[in-house]
Amino acid sequence: DYFANALSNPLNTQTESLLRPPSFDEFVGQKKTVERLKIMSGAARKRGEPLNHILLSGPPGLGKTSLSFILGAEMGRNVRITSGPVVEKAGDLAGMLTNLEEGDILFIDEIHRIPKTVEEYLYSAMEDYCIDIMIDQGPNARSVRLNIPRFTLVGATTRNGLLTAPLRSRFTLQTRLDYYGPEDLLKIVQRTCQLLSVPVETEGGLEIARRARGTPRIANNLVNFVRDYAEEKGNGTITRPIAQAALELLEIDARGLDEMDKRILRVMATTYNSRPVGLNTLAVAVGEESHTLEEVHEPYLIQSGYIQRTAQGRVITPDGLLAIGLTASEG
Ligand code: ADP
Repeated sequence: DYFANALSNPLNTQTESLLRPPSFDEFVGQKKTVERLKIMSGAARKRGEPLNHILLSGPPGLGKTSLSFILGAEMGRNVRITSGPVVEKAGDLAGMLTNLEEGDILFIDEIHRIPKTVEEYLYSAMEDYCIDIMIDQGPNARSVRLNIPRFTLVGATTRNGLLTAPLRSRFTLQTRLDYYGPEDLLKIVQRTCQLLSVPVETEGGLEIARRARGTPRIANNLVNFVRDYAEEKGNGTITRPIAQAALELLEIDARGLDEMDKRILRVMATTYNSRPVGLNTLAVAVGEESHTLEEVHEPYLIQSGYIQRTAQGRVITPDGLLAIGLTASEG
């Protein structure tokens, strides 16, 4: 499952930080989101106030973490990174919050996966910059109020709808990142190649851009592999034939689908005869975790028009059938 791997295993930390865009100017695309963030951070900085809480939504690998670092740089503050499933207890959250300095940014990835018991503490932290912690037990139990520095929460979630209403309402700005188009991805591929000192022809770059399923993190992973291929099989330059051959070796087809994507489509078309199927059933049938199916494969297959989400479940579309070489009557 090439794409799920590429998304969950970042490049080594050194390359990762080399490639992370350090400023809005170097952040390609996502015009609306960038404009909104520029306005908010510019105004807050001029007033000398902490930035208001921000919710970034969108599939993994589109630049949410990068944007939180850029916001930190714009505000001249530290950025602390954590993720929803890691914050298991209220004490974990209290520890993190009390260690922040005024104006610091706390980035919580996958914020929709934060346990409900912890989430309630976030409300007062976000609203009043305090948390009420219970200490002791039985007759001595009492609650103690901890004040925390005025901080900025930047939450990231793959889908806005997964957040509870009370949490969502505490973000001043909610903004969505969308899959990148081929032109933006080409710019990202070219930027990455330049930073890694890899010669790339436009046609070769485009080949990678078209198959990176709209995702910068995948584009960077592909560049990494195609670069190795170019050095081993060519003269080191990423040309179109080199990119095509390298991507073929990774079993990524011309539509940018990997083996797991195609297995999903095949199971939907044949095992389920193009009828609606539930996500968990589908996950078992293709041998993938339902979480990965929902975060990595499904959003792209939906966005590309290969499957649809209906009240009865997921269904394959005529384009989806075409993508695996079937026609509507065969499916
Ligand atoms: P997310 O937090 O949404 O999973 P990241 O911010 O970690 O995504 O992005 C993954 C990598 O993709 C970054 O390290 C960066 O190299 C690259 N990247 C993401 N968005 C952009 C962009 N708009 N312009 C240039 N590079 C980007």
